Amino acid sequence: MNGRIVDEVDAITAPDAERMDAASVREYNFGAVYSVVEAVRTTLGPRGKDKMIEQPDGSVLIVNDASTVLDEIAIAEPAASLAVEAADAVGREFHDGTTTAVVICGALLEEAEGLLDRGLHPNTIVRGYERASDIARQELEALATPIGSTPSALRSVATTAMTGTGAGMSPSEITDLVVSATGLVEASGAVDADHVRVVTRTGYPTADSRVVEGAVLTDDPVRESMPRSVADATVLLTRDPVQLSDTGTDTAVKIGDAESFDRFLDQEAEQVRGMVETLVGMGVDVVLCSDSIADEAQSAMSVNGILGVRRVDDEALRATAAVLGGTVVSSLPDATTADLGTGRIVRDEDDGIFLVYGDGDGSGETRATILLCGPTEEVVDELARHAGTGLEVVASGVDEGIVAGGGATEIELAARVRDAASGVRGREQLAVEAFANALEAAVRVLVENVGRDPVDVLTALRSAHAGGTARTGIGAHGELIDTFEADVHDPAAVKRQAIDSATAAATLLIGVDDLFFVGELSAGDDDDDGADD
Ligand code: ADP
Ligand code: MG
Repeated sequence: MNGRIVDEVDAITAPDAERMDAASVREYNFGAVYSVVEAVRTTLGPRGKDKMIEQPDGSVLIVNDASTVLDEIAIAEPAASLAVEAADAVGREFHDGTTTAVVICGALLEEAEGLLDRGLHPNTIVRGYERASDIARQELEALATPIGSTPSALRSVATTAMTGTGAGMSPSEITDLVVSATGLVEASGAVDADHVRVVTRTGYPTADSRVVEGAVLTDDPVRESMPRSVADATVLLTRDPVQLSDTGTDTAVKIGDAESFDRFLDQEAEQVRGMVETLVGMGVDVVLCSDSIADEAQSAMSVNGILGVRRVDDEALRATAAVLGGTVVSSLPDATTADLGTGRIVRDEDDGIFLVYGDGDGSGETRATILLCGPTEEVVDELARHAGTGLEVVASGVDEGIVAGGGATEIELAARVRDAASGVRGREQLAVEAFANALEAAVRVLVENVGRDPVDVLTALRSAHAGGTARTGIGAHGELIDTFEADVHDPAAVKRQAIDSATAAATLLIGVDDLFFVGELSAGDDDDDGADD
């Protein structure tokens, strides 16, 4: 038995249990996942309800996506953490598709229960599920449509992903920001989501939110007397603090009398001034440092008309370096003119930020910043989460294409997996069919959440798909629509990841069986493992 499985078993068995047979272990684990499904199912889709979660301090958090619900709910049963992990695996990559993953995982377990009752061996179910998910993956790839990178294409993917978002800004406003930012960084048909930074400002109206074609620094100059905006800026970007190296400081310890100490300090100040003069000689007029800038250096910079900013966030520093075509140096003495970036620094006093633009000479890269403003930290954090989702989703849509949303893809995949099942021999075929049913569970929940009868709508959807209309899904009111025409799509990558992680979590839990004797394992006695395998 592999060690990972032992750990999982240790983690999922109730501490007070002495022994659990297969049925009880599964009942316990599956039940934990079902409770997670119950917690998130009503949030799925365009008409998904917000969840109110009471936090330990008594305040109430309102959220509308599974990953946040899962983060916030303290889940007592460790088995549920596998469902949480499955959702997280999707969330980490795309911040989207999490609710779908959780719902499909629960449905796979429910189907498995039925198969176990009919006497199927867990291994047969696991094999069938894995085979079915391979088929689903291939079919998904076949269904994916490239979108290119026109603004309207970007918009349609972002819009579906942002369904139901709120926090003081309408989904379409956030979508606008995401689309214009991704449009800026799009290059030869690809969007690198890392080329867009999301920067938040608390204490400003949400209406101040905007997209900047360049980088944004939220810091202040180190001295009031320094220039604020620099038109033809030559910029040194450093991780090394602007001060004397450590060797300089060590010498100070050896100095005895007060007079020579003063002399030493003078010398040191002189050396720091020398450093700044070197920078002046290199043509530097802006110093951006992710560490500190020594007092003496600050005044020397101020005297020489250099703008200095310290404790710049490292990510902001890297984005700035890219925009200005410079290199972030990690050792000041080694800095050369080749490391310097050039461009335009503009101070926005109203928002207390610096805007950094390239000079368009081709040395810098195009980067975009989504500046999100809001009255409180909670508001800007939620806006940032939604913008992050939108960015990932748009980038993956551009990369791997899109598929029909509104349940159309799940229905189509279910039909194709069912077709393929007829070619699978033996009882495994039943598991492949069960997998197809589970894929439809996400659609069932979607239909329930728009207040329609799942049986009627699913029947109508299945027959539409049998008639060859693969893009027929449901609209926001449960009506059948051509989802492509209605601009309801999901990125293929998000769907793939949702199905993959649901399958991985479900097969793991199904595979946990009666070989494990709680307590004995943790006591180090694992002789019984696999005895009746
Ligand atoms: P998830 O956490 O899985 O992303 P969501 O609450 O975002 O959950 O719901 C996603 C589902 O809702 C997808 O199947 C998507 O196609 C569908 N959806 C989103 N917007 C619409 C819409 N306007 N009409 C129909 N379905 C939609
Ligand atoms: Mg979503």
